[in-house]
Amino acid sequence: MKIGIIGAGLAGLTAAIELAERGFEVDVYYVDNPTYSNSYKLQAGIAMPLTPNDSPEIHIRDTLSVGRYLNDTERVWFTVSKATEVYEFLRGLGINFESVELEGGHNIPRTFSIKGLTGKYIMDKLYVQAKERYVNFVRSRVSSLIISGNTCIGFIDEKGEHHHYDAVIIARGQKRM
Ligand SMILES: Cc1cc2nc3c(=O)[nH]c(=O)nc-3n(C[C@H](O)[C@H](O)[C@H](O)COP(=O)(O)OP(=O)(O)OC[C@H]3O[C@@H](n4cnc5c(N)ncnc54)[C@H](O)[C@@H]3O)c2cc1C
Repeated sequence: MKIGIIGAGLAGLTAAIELAERGFEVDVYYVDNPTYSNSYKLQAGIAMPLTPNDSPEIHIRDTLSVGRYLNDTERVWFTVSKATEVYEFLRGLGINFESVELEGGHNIPRTFSIKGLTGKYIMDKLYVQAKERYVNFVRSRVSSLIISGNTCIGFIDEKGEHHHYDAVIIARGQKRM
């Protein structure tokens, strides 16, 4: 089965590594540079409620409060509840956090950090790990999606070329396509 992933940030490469690990053939599309993305610029670290005096409930309460209760509560619960999985995944790839910092919006230290260069460190590691699993990187801007029924079955790149896949993951961050 062949999977096309639009985006080589933290989201795209995490999906790519997981899928390659399960035996899927994976192509990752990116613009400009395979490691330089918003994920690379992520400085402070990743907030996870994993210290002994913390809990998902406290993290969620802080998140909803700083979001002035405009957040999608279900998404907040979903994301925060994945913290242990995320931590184990990153640790399994050899990523070691150096400190847990107190960052804006949080009432207790829960931002797992690496020397203020967390994104650079993680992205460099994820890129190497994806390459080791034969993930194929394609430098090409996707300009539109190919939809069949209500399923995305591929996309068209900036040169007008069509690319078909068994499944597509859109992980292009907040940039416009
Ligand atoms: C300066 C800065 C500091 C930050 N600090 C933190 C922090 O401390 N903690 C924190 O949790 N978050 C932080 N963030 C936010 C965090 O970086 C993002 O939320 C996260 O990296 C998003 O990851 P992503 O994989 O969804 O997208 P991105 O990292 O934005 O990756 C998007 C990918 O999609 C590709 N792409 C986009 N459009 C197309 C297209 N049309 N065709 C093909 N490819 C395409 C890009 O090339 C890129 O590879 C920070 C952001 C910035 C900018």
